[in-house]
Amino acid sequence: MAKKPEKIQRSWVPQRRAFERENNNQEFYNSWPWRKFAKRFKANNPLCVKCLEKDLVVPVKVVDHITPIKAGGAKLDESNCQSLCASCHNSKSSGESRGYGVKSR
Ligand SMILES: [Zn+2]
Repeated sequence: MAKKPEKIQRSWVPQRRAFERENNNQEFYNSWPWRKFAKRFKANNPLCVKCLEKDLVVPVKVVDHITPIKAGGAKLDESNCQSLCASCHNSKSSGESRGYGVKSR
């Protein structure tokens, strides 16, 4: 009984790695290519599209990925992006995890 059980294979390590990948999105949103892309996208799409549907003219605050990156959406593709204001982006982000709910006015 002299051996210490130190060489146990930690099978949970790879799983943890996969989990960490989600945090890489934050890195991406701070990256140069994205900032440059978002700046140009905002210039081309200066209004929140969700508000426009309700006949509201609200300046864009964030460039949102229609198909989220973590769901395999294209990162730097304008056809996968939409302009949102802060409140529309917040309601979309909070709605994504529980399925998209109908937002009351
Ligand atoms: Zn909006």
